[in-house]
Amino acid sequence: MRLLVVEDEQKTGEYLQQGLTEAGFLVSLARNGLDGHHQAMTEEFDLIILDVMLPDVDGWRILKSLREAEKQTPVLFLTARDSVEDRVKGLELGADDYLVKPFAFAELLARVRTLLRRGLSPAQADQLTVADLLLDIPKRKASRSGKKIQLSQKEFSLLELLVRRQGEVLTRSLIASQVWDMNFDSDTNVIDVAIRRLRAKIDEGFDPRLIHTVRGMGYKLDADGNEE
Ligand code: CA
Repeated sequence: MRLLVVEDEQKTGEYLQQGLTEAGFLVSLARNGLDGHHQAMTEEFDLIILDVMLPDVDGWRILKSLREAEKQTPVLFLTARDSVEDRVKGLELGADDYLVKPFAFAELLARVRTLLRRGLSPAQADQLTVADLLLDIPKRKASRSGKKIQLSQKEFSLLELLVRRQGEVLTRSLIASQVWDMNFDSDTNVIDVAIRRLRAKIDEGFDPRLIHTVRGMGYKLDADGNEE
């Protein structure tokens, strides 16, 4: 899951980035409103954590602009001001939740997880399944036919992306941007190597095969097994 943190206070921004990264999210940090607005408008995020008080473009303007552009990415507001009007204003503009600074990281994490779960059934939110493959999202654990599969953080993120978008062909550049937070040319084999490793763990010794190569396009995860 990819998060955008828009926060001008360096310490808070880095603290959030580090904590959320350790919790298994891919985190992009914008240190001012303009950069935050640009990233929010041009990239795909699952959630935006938006500071209200920014020196250039404030959080309200960013949120207003996002919603006007019909971008429905969930937004969690961070506000230093504990006034009812501010909170109401944020929610009216289309924020999904807010947190008053200073806050405990555990609380922020709980709010983030709740927002990401919204719109999904509770079972969908915590567990993803395809055939006999089971992903436990909060614990970041995978198993097939009840057999535990050891995955690195990146392998889990890659598998989660494939499972969430099962049946869809995912290009290497999409996988690179969603899992590695990088943009790279298609001639690199980072993705292919990662897929090969993941496949050895997920598909070897199991039936049906789930990870498929779509020649000239990318990869998809599918239990029906239409190879190439
Ligand atoms: Ca601020």
